[in-house]
Amino acid sequence: MSRQTITTDVVIIGAGIAGLWLHNRLNQMGFHALLLENKTIGNAQTLSSQGIIHGGTKYALNGILSKATQAIGSMPARWQACLDGKGDVDLTHVKVLADHQLMWSKQQLSSKMVSFFASKALSSRMQTVAKADRPELFRYPEFKGALYQLDEPVLDIASVLKNLAQPWHGRIIHTPESTEIMWQQNNEGVQAIQLNGIEIKAQQFVLTAGEGNGELLETLKFTKPTMQLRPLQMVLCKAKNTPQALPAIYAHSLGSGSKPIATITSHFGEDGNTIWYIGGNIAEQGVGKNFHKITTDAKDLLNDILPWFDFPELEWATHAVNRAEPKQSALSRPDTAFVESKNNVHIAWPTKLALAPDLADQIIKQLQKQNLQKNTHRMTVNLPPATISKPLWDKAFQ
Ligand SMILES: Cc1cc2nc3c(=O)[nH]c(=O)nc-3n(C[C@H](O)[C@H](O)[C@H](O)COP(=O)(O)OP(=O)(O)OC[C@H]3O[C@@H](n4cnc5c(N)ncnc54)[C@H](O)[C@@H]3O)c2cc1C
Repeated sequence: MSRQTITTDVVIIGAGIAGLWLHNRLNQMGFHALLLENKTIGNAQTLSSQGIIHGGTKYALNGILSKATQAIGSMPARWQACLDGKGDVDLTHVKVLADHQLMWSKQQLSSKMVSFFASKALSSRMQTVAKADRPELFRYPEFKGALYQLDEPVLDIASVLKNLAQPWHGRIIHTPESTEIMWQQNNEGVQAIQLNGIEIKAQQFVLTAGEGNGELLETLKFTKPTMQLRPLQMVLCKAKNTPQALPAIYAHSLGSGSKPIATITSHFGEDGNTIWYIGGNIAEQGVGKNFHKITTDAKDLLNDILPWFDFPELEWATHAVNRAEPKQSALSRPDTAFVESKNNVHIAWPTKLALAPDLADQIIKQLQKQNLQKNTHRMTVNLPPATISKPLWDKAFQ
C-alpha cells in the first residue's frame, strides 16, 4: 500500500473535554496540534456529564476540607474567566444553564455541619438562601429544611464542545473506529503513528482517550499507568406532556451521609421539554439493575427528597457509562487531574470535566520540559473532520 505522510508538532488522541481543551490551547499558542477522534467529538464521558463546574463543596460533606476540595477550588473562577472572554480559551458563546447550584436537606442540618459550612474555608463558596430568594420548588410551606447556594456554575456541554472545536476544526480528524493505531517507536519514544496507510509524524503524543486509553496503553505495550473504570447508571426523566414540564433545577440533595443522595441537573430537549438528569448515589447503586428496578427506585427517591412536590406523569430513560480514571486503591475517586509521561508519550485523565484547564496546564508544562518546537506544517492529505456528537437529551428517550 502506498504510504502518505503528514507531520505535526503534537498528536492528541481522543476528543473529549481533555483533548479539546489541550488542542485549543496548543494551537492558540502557535504549535501545530492534530486531534484524532474515532467516534464523534464528546460522545463518551464528556457529553454524559452533568456539566457542573465543581468548586469542591460536594467533597466536603463529611466535614473535612479534603485534597479534592482544595485542588478543584479555583476551577469555577478559571472557567468563569473563559466564559467572560478573559481566560486561556474562549468560551464566550457557551450557554450557561445556571450560575449557581443549590444544595438542600429535607431536615435542618446538624449544628456541626452548619458551623462547618459557615467556616472561613467554605463560606466564600456557599451561602444560605434567604426565604424570599428561594426558587419556586423550595417555597412550599412543607419544606422546612436547609437550602444553600453554591458558587459553581452548570454549563451546557454541547455548547462548550462547539466553542472549543470551532476555531481549529480543520485539525480535528475523524479516524475510523475499526482502524488500529500502529506505533512506530524505539527506546527514545514514539516517532510516528500509522492509520490506514497514513503516517503521522510528531514530536509529542498525548493520550486523552478516556476509557480508550486502556487499549492504547496495550498497543504501546506500556504496563503503567493503569486505568480504573467506575460504572454508573444515570437516570433521566421528563414530563409526558411538555406543557407540564418539570421546573429546571440544579441541586444536590443531602442526606446524613458524606455524599449527596442525588444530584439533579436540568437540560432541554429539541421539543423544549425539561429533562432531569439524576446522578449521585442512585447512579452508583443502579449499576446492574434492570430498567424497571432503577426507575422504580428513582421514583421513590424523588418522592422522598421532594415530598411536597406534585410530580406530573413522567417518562423515564437510563444511561449507563463508565468513568475512566487512573487506578486508585479500592476504586476510590481520584482527587486531581492526572498525567504521566513516558518519553514523548503523555497519558492523561482529567478525572473531572471541571479539571480540564488544570490538566492542560500540566501537559503543556511536560511538553515544554521536553523542548516542544513550533514548526510549520501543511496538511498535504485530505483527512475527514470529526463531527460533534448529539447531546444525550436528544437520544436517551428514543
Ligand atoms: C455520568 C457522569 C457525570 C459526570 N458529571 C460531571 C460533572 O458534572 N462535572 C465534572 O467536573 N465532571 C463530571 N464527570 C466527569 C467528566 O465527565 C470526565 O472526567 C471527563 O468528561 C473526561 O473527559 P475525557 O476527555 O478524559 O474523556 P471522554 O469524554 O471519555 O473522551 C474520550 C474520547 O476519546 C475517544 N477515543 C477513545 N479511544 C480512541 C481512539 N483509539 N482513537 C481516537 N479517539 C478515541 C472517545 O470516542 C472519546 O470521544 C462526569 C462523568 C460521568 C460519567
